[in-house]
Amino acid sequence: MRYLALESSCDETAVAIWDTEQHRVEYERTLTQAALHGPYGGVVPGLAIREHLKGFHQLIESLRHSYDLSRIDAVCVTHGPGLVGCLGIGVAYAQALQLLLNVPLYGVNHLHGHALSPFLELFQADADFNWNAYCPHLGLLVSGGNTLLFEMPSVGQFHTLAQTVDDAAGEALDKGAKMLGFPYPGGALIEHCGQSGDAQWVRFPRAFPHKSDLRFSFSGLKTSLRVFLDKLSADEVEQHKADICAAYQEAVVDALSHKVQQVLSMGDYKSLGLSGGVANNSVLRNRLQQVAEHYGIPLVTPPKCYCGDNAAMIAFSSAQVSAELALNPNLTLDTIK
Ligand code: AMP
Ligand code: MG
Repeated sequence: MRYLALESSCDETAVAIWDTEQHRVEYERTLTQAALHGPYGGVVPGLAIREHLKGFHQLIESLRHSYDLSRIDAVCVTHGPGLVGCLGIGVAYAQALQLLLNVPLYGVNHLHGHALSPFLELFQADADFNWNAYCPHLGLLVSGGNTLLFEMPSVGQFHTLAQTVDDAAGEALDKGAKMLGFPYPGGALIEHCGQSGDAQWVRFPRAFPHKSDLRFSFSGLKTSLRVFLDKLSADEVEQHKADICAAYQEAVVDALSHKVQQVLSMGDYKSLGLSGGVANNSVLRNRLQQVAEHYGIPLVTPPKCYCGDNAAMIAFSSAQVSAELALNPNLTLDTIK
């Protein structure tokens, strides 16, 4: 089976094809709008919608010329969560492709795509890949719009254990970066600048430190940076920018890894996953690697190309959940008609 996926939940327009027999991504293209939104300090929905319209036209036109579309067995599309207008463009293109190709159309939850993205490469590398070796799985999904800890008892079953009550981790990094004068999205720039800094130079607060409290919160952290910066002169901020970046990033990484440890100490998991755009962060990856080693389980992360939004994870997720659906009729997969 070949699954053609479309993704347009935020500011990436992407198409990809997953081949279930060959266990591989057969085709993928992603257009990013970061440069377009950068000057506004965040994603502007109206601009994003126009760009997705142009982007899908361009991507499907080039797919049509380089790939025999009659080989496609199913079309799948991210149908949420995300920016409604942006999702609508993807769904409309997917419906048109479904009519053209006369194949089933599946709606895929964007978060399920991210949640399964750490397994995509493992699956490609091992023809005998077995989900039982990794499940029950604990996953940390950290992106610009979402921060959640979930458990996956078996593939395609997701239980949310913890989520943010306000800002997402990526959002806190981006807003902090903006206060420090970096362009949007500034998460990676905070990491880069913080490399030469002292993470202990100042201590920013961590929310909900108690063991039984499975909530994340990052808006207080953002406010504490604002208050701290207001007390410094412009020269002091410039002089200690690397230290401030390192300490701010440390507060985010510490809060995330602390909750992961809490959950690992309470349950019995065979693997720990990290996904979403913030999974690009090396400090977070290294910290979770140490945590996983402490519990004697593998840390699974996507390569950097599959951390941010992409269509390969949507095609892969749809194929995995569909395969499981055939075995377990209690699982649900939304079908857009
Ligand atoms: P997504 O929403 O999954 O597309 O991820 C985008 C988010 O990931 C944005 O908030 C980025 O700032 C953040 N991000 C990307 N690279 C890094 C990095 N190296 N360190 C921290 N955050 C990052
Ligand atoms: Mg995303």
